[in-house]
Amino acid sequence: MTSDNPPQTAWTTEDSAALYGVHQWGGGNFSMSPEGEVTVKVNFDGHSVEVPLPEMVKGAQQRGHALPLLLRIENLLDARITLLNESFRTAIREAGYRGRYQGIFPVKVNQQAQVIEEITQFGARYNHGLEAGSKAELLLALAKLPEDGLLICNGYKDREFIDLGLWAGKLGYRCFFVIETPHELPLILERSRSIGVQPLIGLRIKVSAKVGGLWTETSGDRSSFGLSTAQLVEVVDALRAEGMLDCLQLLHCHLGSQIPAIEDIHAGVKEASRFYADLRKEGVPLNYLDLGGGLAVDYIGNQSLHSHSRNYSLADYCNCIVTTIQATLAEEQLPEPDIITESGRATVAHTSVLLFNILDVMCFEPQQLPADCPADSHPLVLRQFQLYRSATDFELVSGYHEALQNRDQLRQLFRDGVVSLRQRSLAENLFLAIARQVQQRLDQLSACPSELKELRQNLADIYYGNFSVFQSLPDTWAIGQVFPVMPIQRLQENPQREGIIADLTCDCDGKLDRFILAGGERNSLPLHPLQAGEEYILGVFLMGAYQETLGDLHNLFGDAYQETLGDLHNLFGDTHVVSVRINENGSFDVLKELSGDSVGEVLSMVEYDPQALAAGFRDKAEKAVRDGRIDLAERQKILAEFNARLQSYTYFGG
Ligand SMILES: *Cc1c(COP(=O)(O)O)cnc(C)c1O
Repeated sequence: MTSDNPPQTAWTTEDSAALYGVHQWGGGNFSMSPEGEVTVKVNFDGHSVEVPLPEMVKGAQQRGHALPLLLRIENLLDARITLLNESFRTAIREAGYRGRYQGIFPVKVNQQAQVIEEITQFGARYNHGLEAGSKAELLLALAKLPEDGLLICNGYKDREFIDLGLWAGKLGYRCFFVIETPHELPLILERSRSIGVQPLIGLRIKVSAKVGGLWTETSGDRSSFGLSTAQLVEVVDALRAEGMLDCLQLLHCHLGSQIPAIEDIHAGVKEASRFYADLRKEGVPLNYLDLGGGLAVDYIGNQSLHSHSRNYSLADYCNCIVTTIQATLAEEQLPEPDIITESGRATVAHTSVLLFNILDVMCFEPQQLPADCPADSHPLVLRQFQLYRSATDFELVSGYHEALQNRDQLRQLFRDGVVSLRQRSLAENLFLAIARQVQQRLDQLSACPSELKELRQNLADIYYGNFSVFQSLPDTWAIGQVFPVMPIQRLQENPQREGIIADLTCDCDGKLDRFILAGGERNSLPLHPLQAGEEYILGVFLMGAYQETLGDLHNLFGDAYQETLGDLHNLFGDTHVVSVRINENGSFDVLKELSGDSVGEVLSMVEYDPQALAAGFRDKAEKAVRDGRIDLAERQKILAEFNARLQSYTYFGG
């Protein structure tokens, strides 16, 4: 392993860009200013504009929104929608494909009103539609989509859901019910007769081609979604028997999310196309093939088969889908369908950045050591001292292991009452000094011996971040998702510390200890030492998909029996959210601001009444006045403080 920390004098922002991999995972959306700040880069016709993130943080703070803060950059969302639609149009044109492309955003990926509004408004030029998986999602989709919009309804549908979708059809929406189990069909047919509207029906198939990646359970035979081939045939026959076959216009499949390999996408699309072709040959009047989600985000930026990457570009993805469908249908001389995809992750990931400040750092550095070991020391302590003296040139693996063993033995001797607290303290200090020395030597080597691979992480500082992993980045602990994280300032300076990040919750899972750095993942992150009186802010990038409402609002199903754990860990609430739009002249408008939860609001969510809490506390203060423990002025001060805290942000305020 080569040293990531060459001498300070040589360091430039470009070194930081290379170290943190900004140009790889940033996809052209993020860059760096000569002053060492991360910038958001937006393209306008023929030129690009960059705005430093610290400037936007300042703008939010001046409007009363302290850190932590979720920043949404609307330009980046618009750019993704354009890119997705235009890439499919290009692929269709180049292949001479005779169907159209139609994009759909699955609401569950980010249900926030600001995001859905932006997608429906900006996406209108492409007829970008929405996918809904619950009644709540259907309602918001109906309210936000233009009335000729395309709506795909997945998930379990009760009578209320179906009625609403049918009425929407009367208003002009193209609202498809995607049938996931055979039991749904009779209810849809009964309700459509009763209301007097023909339903638009899609069938969700299970594709047996296996896909790789972290999220594979949504495909294959055992997927809980979709019809088996036997059920598919049964539903088609039932529709034919009812004389309703012409309602069946769409075939749907969802191979999974974040699919790293284009080969897997090819195999899945090929199989889905065969289903489509065979049903067409039977006379089913299908004209849409909906391939669901799966388009991956390259969180690492190295175009690999890693679960957080992908081995294809967006153009490759579009070409693969278009040409695979084209080839399959050409064999059967059948007309080409309109293609639908439901890209969620790839549409919204880039638009959001989580920003939080560091409150404190714990370092694992040795204290000042004596010049000589006290003569009355235990023989093992004396030996540890010798090792410390020779740490610059002892044999790395065996020397380090002996020091480690000594430390552990001395701890045992302390427990047995043989070694004193002061001796143990000296011994542990010696061990840290030895370990630091070993790590320095490892940094000079081209390859780190595998026995010593974990040392760097074990010596890493702990940076305490003003945020909650459970509230803001739930996928990092739920499924091991890794997002790019880096400081947003001081990038002209060599980051000489190595750290992991702990959040404000007192939970051992409340931490970030896997990081994306140029060329791969690492268990610690290069960071700068804090400077007194100066805020040190970290950004978590590409986190706009699946993070904002996961946990207890999946698909907008509300409270039932589930307690509020999940995203209210330790009662840290929603962060502030600020949406900005960057203008052509480099200024930015703050379009929408959403204040995060206050302490009182979070307490209400777990069934406390803030007013009753205040009244209960008032009684205690009153009693203290009566007993002469405080005076009236103090009482007023204490109560004002209590009430102010009920109104305040749940995060660290200073
Ligand atoms: C979750 C989901 C999607 C979105 O998948 P991405 O990989 O985020 O694009 C699309 N369609 C269906 C049916 C889904 O369940």
